[in-house]
Amino acid sequence: MRADVVTIFPAYLEPLRLSLVGRAQERGTLDVRTHDLRAWTSDVHRTVDDAPYGGGPGMVMRPEPWDAALLEIAASDPARRPRVVVPTPAGRPFSQRHAEELAREPWLVFCCGRYEGIDSRVIDTWADDEISIGDYVLAGGEVATLVILEAVARLLPGVLGNSASAADDSFSDGLLEAPVYTRPQVWRGAEVPAVLRSGDHAAVARWRRAQALRRTLLRRPDLVEHAELSDADRAVLEA
Ligand code: SAM
Repeated sequence: MRADVVTIFPAYLEPLRLSLVGRAQERGTLDVRTHDLRAWTSDVHRTVDDAPYGGGPGMVMRPEPWDAALLEIAASDPARRPRVVVPTPAGRPFSQRHAEELAREPWLVFCCGRYEGIDSRVIDTWADDEISIGDYVLAGGEVATLVILEAVARLLPGVLGNSASAADDSFSDGLLEAPVYTRPQVWRGAEVPAVLRSGDHAAVARWRRAQALRRTLLRRPDLVEHAELSDADRAVLEA
């Protein structure tokens, strides 16, 4: 997958060189290209913002640098069309389903807004996706892009050490994951549940499913409403 990120703070995206996303880039699974929006300005001050029409506080990002940037990035590979993603509090709430959908795309372009946001005509012209990472307001789209890209990158083939682990994660089957444990067997007087040490894989799977169901019902009942449940699942929830 190729991912271009357009921002006025390219340094904000440096964590993408680390850990799992960094390794995905080293292996060639992911190709992240960060661009400074100011490279597409034409005045001496490299201006990207202006006062909002209609008045009010703050500044709005002007359309011309965005359009020039997106035209040039799109033209860099005329054989394909990128999916243009604009992080914004007004966007579709980001979810694991959404991450799975984006992970199937060969090419994403992220537009990181700042100030009061990007002139709406840019969004109308270019955006395929407007995504919100939650009901709060960040100072810019960079952190939202980091969140989205990390969630997407770990779903790309071969990025996780064990390909099964993404399928077991919270939200993959609509539920939260069961609690996890490692050594030591007893820590601060608390013992790891016996079933996890039993070697009985079927019993472990049943225990995990029951834990996931009860935990989700307690913490995120909204998820249980939409999860696919078997009769055995319903029996666990009603117990
Ligand atoms: N005036 C805008 C509003 O009230 O919706 C907020 C602009 S915010 C200060 C600047 C930029 O941060 C936005 O253009 C967007 O790129 C990003 N941003 C802020 N909160 C976000 C969120 N919850 N999800 C995704 N992006 C967000």
